[in-house]
Amino acid sequence: MLTDYHVHLRPDGPATPPQEYFTAANAEAYRAAATERGIAELGVSEHIYRFTESLRIWDNPLWREFALDDVDAYCAFVRDETDLRLGIEADFIPGREDRVETFLADRPWDYVVGSIHFVGDGALDHEDYDIWGPGTDPDKVWSTYFEWLGELARTGQYDILAHPDLVKHWGRRRPFPEGDLRRFYDLAMEGIAESGIAIEVSTAGLRKPVGELYPTKEFLAMCLEAGNPVALSSDAHTPEHLGFGYDEALAFLDELGVRELAVFEGRERRLEPIG
Ligand SMILES: [Zn+2]
Ligand SMILES: [Zn+2]
Repeated sequence: MLTDYHVHLRPDGPATPPQEYFTAANAEAYRAAATERGIAELGVSEHIYRFTESLRIWDNPLWREFALDDVDAYCAFVRDETDLRLGIEADFIPGREDRVETFLADRPWDYVVGSIHFVGDGALDHEDYDIWGPGTDPDKVWSTYFEWLGELARTGQYDILAHPDLVKHWGRRRPFPEGDLRRFYDLAMEGIAESGIAIEVSTAGLRKPVGELYPTKEFLAMCLEAGNPVALSSDAHTPEHLGFGYDEALAFLDELGVRELAVFEGRERRLEPIG
């Protein structure tokens, strides 16, 4: 079994109206690309901040720019017009856990992908809201990021921990901490271990400035040691990117002794052999 769960049906940017991308034909194009690449388990996980209701969770400039869609229309489309699993990529915003819970409740998700894209008001992977300015201390950003990652896991609101070390998105094009990065990973590990959350191995990092998988081998080894399972995804925003870089990801998992992947349905998880 191969999976691709962290998938978007359209490119990033607010000018991508759902009526153009949330169509049975587009879903079928994704399904066809997945089948061609041997990916049987396919789901979509639209960004939570695409939905007007998300502004009740966090009202910030980027979200306001994107929050145009109706979440129930999205759920109905995926359920009724596609054969894809229904997911959502929901940001962790400290202190807003109750509001996220209200948003997620009573909707028919197969899984919820948990992400951190913003540390405070600064974005980790978006130039317009970039957290990195003159004098930004990388040790401080990385410490906060990984502390929050542990908190995200501990909420129990998320099934999959997305692109776990997204903070490295820009690689050496932004300030980067020196030395052994495990001192940062350690800050997240207690929450990760206690929660049992599935750890995403994402090939998206291969397409980003950092040019490597999310997460590093050291990070994943610590999660495996803690007993957490792995979820495999590409974070594709087009059918072409489905399963992108999976040869590299599968070699990485093999090297770490990972033989099974997490599979989700109705927020229940089971493990299936890779292949
Ligand atoms: Zn993301
Ligand atoms: Zn994503």
